[in-house]
Amino acid sequence: MLLTRLLNACHHFPGFVYEGARLCEATQSIEIDVRPRKGSKPVCSCCNQPARGYDSLTERRFEFIPVWGFAVFLLYTMRRVDCRDCGVKVEALPWANGKHTLTRAT
Ligand SMILES: [Zn+2]
Repeated sequence: MLLTRLLNACHHFPGFVYEGARLCEATQSIEIDVRPRKGSKPVCSCCNQPARGYDSLTERRFEFIPVWGFAVFLLYTMRRVDCRDCGVKVEALPWANGKHTLTRAT
């Protein structure tokens, strides 16, 4: 889909890929599947260092930049890391800011 190509061109996050996008006309929203790039290590959200994967949480929706009047959500299954320094923590996500679901991208 064109949208995933646009996203890769405009909002490429290293270590992650956009896998697909769905237009949901009933809710005027676009859902985009995001997954980790193969071989990329998750990053500890505590110290921002790459860490060993621990497990995965359930899929979450992250509100992203709306396009053409459609709300855009990134769907992503967060991983947890087993960090040498911090213990088990959720991974850091380039588009998420702490507990807020709004993204950092502008
Ligand atoms: Zn850490």
